[in-house]
Amino acid sequence: KTDIMNGKRGLIMGVANNHSIAWGIAKALRAAGAELAFTYQGDAFGKRVKPLAAELGSDILLPCDVEQIETVDAVFDTLKEKWGTLDFVVHAIGFSDRNELKGLYADTTRDNFSRTMVISCFSFTEVAKRAAAMMNEGGSLLTLTYAGSTRVMPNYNVMGVAKAALEASVRYLAADYGPKQIRVNAISAGPVRTLAGAGIADARVMFSYQARNSPMRRTVTIDDVGSSSLYLLSDMSRGVTGEVHFVDSGYHITSMPVLDELKR
Ligand code: NAD
Repeated sequence: KTDIMNGKRGLIMGVANNHSIAWGIAKALRAAGAELAFTYQGDAFGKRVKPLAAELGSDILLPCDVEQIETVDAVFDTLKEKWGTLDFVVHAIGFSDRNELKGLYADTTRDNFSRTMVISCFSFTEVAKRAAAMMNEGGSLLTLTYAGSTRVMPNYNVMGVAKAALEASVRYLAADYGPKQIRVNAISAGPVRTLAGAGIADARVMFSYQARNSPMRRTVTIDDVGSSSLYLLSDMSRGVTGEVHFVDSGYHITSMPVLDELKR
């Protein structure tokens, strides 16, 4: 139990349901004392997110589709009006056509490449610019990425390319806003069973492979990601920016599977 987020206000983007990584993060932030606002994408998600936001004592629930920049502007206009300033933002948004989350990366279409990049990468830059304008010293921005950015994961394809660009943008944004003492970081989560995760072909195989072969012999939960986000969004990490922090049971440090013949 901690109160390190007492007095801090932040925006959570990307809750689709109670399996969403953003929901795990929101729960941890609220338990540590933060005041939260939420966005949702479209009415169908809105219906699911409304009771979740209420459960965490939030009465700010705003529609936002990052493909429509005016809806992003409207979110920050409302926050300016209601709160004036902002302490943190969680960006847990990603999308690619599921028909291209299988087969060859080389078959990616130009349309889906652009769309994936705008939603999964550039939206973080657009959000960061608007959020930073409302932040004082100590502001913190966090996005979610995956190790498919630097290593080839079967079927992850264009999402891996978008995550590589997202991680690069974390570093550039960290440099942009560092002088204002606003920090920008990413959490690279291991596979989690979510709506977005289910869009990747053979996700179940990847999930159980990582559970068997990560140092901790398990996958991570949304609460594991939530706890780590507290560090990156609070003053505890006040000297940390531009980082990609792995929350993946250590899978990324491995170089070979746990083979029976090597089992101790
Ligand atoms: P999720 O489906 O619960 O969340 C994805 C969110 O993206 C949804 O809330 C959806 O509404 C939102 N979104 C998609 N297109 C949007 C748009 N145009 N405008 C606004 N919102 C939009 O799945 P999740 O796994 O919790 O995904 C959250 C983040 O975590 C994503 O960036 C994802 O790539 C990343 N991530 C997921 C995993 C995993 O295994 N699930 C692992 C590492 C990183």
